Amino acid sequence: MSREESFDKIGRPAHVCLRCEAGFDDGDIFHSAIFRGEEGFVRQDFCGACWGELEEVPLAVWKSRRADSEPPPPPPPDGALLLELLGRLVQEAKREDEAFVYLLALYLMRRKVVVLESTEGEGEERQLRLGPGRGFDDVQLSIRERRFTGEEMDRAEVECERLISGEVGANSA
Ligand SMILES: [Zn+2]
Repeated sequence: MSREESFDKIGRPAHVCLRCEAGFDDGDIFHSAIFRGEEGFVRQDFCGACWGELEEVPLAVWKSRRADSEPPPPPPPDGALLLELLGRLVQEAKREDEAFVYLLALYLMRRKVVVLESTEGEGEERQLRLGPGRGFDDVQLSIRERRFTGEEMDRAEVECERLISGEVGANSA
């Protein structure tokens, strides 16, 4: 699957609670969260009851209402969830996340969740300054655009694909 194809899949919540496996009906409120898993970032959806029992603190959370009558899936909840994840990872500033953060930022730019306001610096110091897209909470983020190794990029692409395709690992419970 190409990066473009996998990015296009993101607007698809699981529509089932990962813990109790209850399905979400039209109009139901459900919670989406992104966790740092053993093999990368994972996105999980939960019903209200199970949400209250989470032991692990997610990196990013978002509350959605399942849209009446399915397609087309609206991008805003996922955009907001991923924007929160991006903000959190920028704040944590871990070097091993930088390639993933960069790819996620490109994806969110493409989805107009964020807009590129300016660039600063050169080479290894280059930073992308991002602001909010229309309809999203005010954010100001600086994304490092250094030279990533092939290995870093490969790993980041796999993580992005897993997150965006909604593929989740074993239940974290
Ligand atoms: Zn549940």
